[in-house]
Amino acid sequence: MLYRSLGQTGLKVSMLSFGASSLGGVFHEVDEPDSIRTVHVALERGINFMDVSPFYGLTKAEIVLGKALKSIAREKYILATKVGRYGHAMKDFNFSAPRVTASMDESLKRLGVDHVDLIQAHDIEFGDLSQVIGETIPALRKLQKAGKARFVGITGLPLTALRTIVEATPIDTILSYCRFGLNDTALTDLIPVLKKHRVGIINASPLGMGLLSNRGAPNWHPASEAIKETCARAAAHCRARGASIEKLAVQYSLTNPDIATTLVGTANPKEMDQNITWANEPIDQILLAEVLAILKPVHNVSWPSGRQENN
Ligand code: NAD
Repeated sequence: MLYRSLGQTGLKVSMLSFGASSLGGVFHEVDEPDSIRTVHVALERGINFMDVSPFYGLTKAEIVLGKALKSIAREKYILATKVGRYGHAMKDFNFSAPRVTASMDESLKRLGVDHVDLIQAHDIEFGDLSQVIGETIPALRKLQKAGKARFVGITGLPLTALRTIVEATPIDTILSYCRFGLNDTALTDLIPVLKKHRVGIINASPLGMGLLSNRGAPNWHPASEAIKETCARAAAHCRARGASIEKLAVQYSLTNPDIATTLVGTANPKEMDQNITWANEPIDQILLAEVLAILKPVHNVSWPSGRQENN
């Protein structure tokens, strides 16, 4: 496993890392012992960075991750969680200082730790960005001063919203998802800005939250039918070549050295083990060229997320 510096934090994170949303059963029903084993496989094989949120499985992912981490020495992992998002509807977002401050303590309790390494405002495009800048981030900085979190970050889908915050106030990290993978590399355009502001870059969802998999995207997936169909054609092409789109997708997500780490999610220990093995193998350049050609019609085509003005 290769390790890369996360911006100016001084943290060295594994280039492939573990996203725990699957532990909340967000893709399909999951088994708790399998979930716990998945976390242990990730750590045993060199992954040192884990990301979760109270939103995933409506606190279930944090609870299960906490159980998995109970037997692991605290210095063995770098842990990130989030504040501000607590459900699917607009009313389930709350970026106010009192709510995010209380949320931090709730997460620490569920995770069974006295601090996290990174606390992130979750899906900022659903909030009023001026509140995120003027109230949420300062509240998270207070939590940092109190020793509850070592660093402060933001997460979201629209790159314009991430950029607005980064240019307005100092931020340690951003987490961008579904914008650096086989079908979408738009995050690349934001990298010069992020480097200028010395922001650590976390990429998430190398399988496009299921788009780039043989199982296909879950029902709730926000991508258009055109994106889903084109990705399914790319998956079928890999199958016909005796290869796996998942492998190509994981490997491709790790190809940009400016991206410190890519979070992949699963609650299946065998899949996690495979993902790590793939991360350490060279990419099949011929298959890659074929798949990129199939995906070209939907390249960098995303979907709206959050408030209209933040897209
Ligand atoms: P992903 O692209 O990692 O895809 C997850 C899906 O792929 C799951 O259904 C999983 O079972 C499947 N999968 C994983 N490895 C596989 C393998 N080897 N073979 C077959 N299928 C495999 O999407 P994700 O889980 O949404 O993203 C990863 C993590 O990134 C999340 O858990 C979360 O921590 C983070 N994330 C954060 C945000 C945010 O902050 N807004 C958004 C998206 C993701």
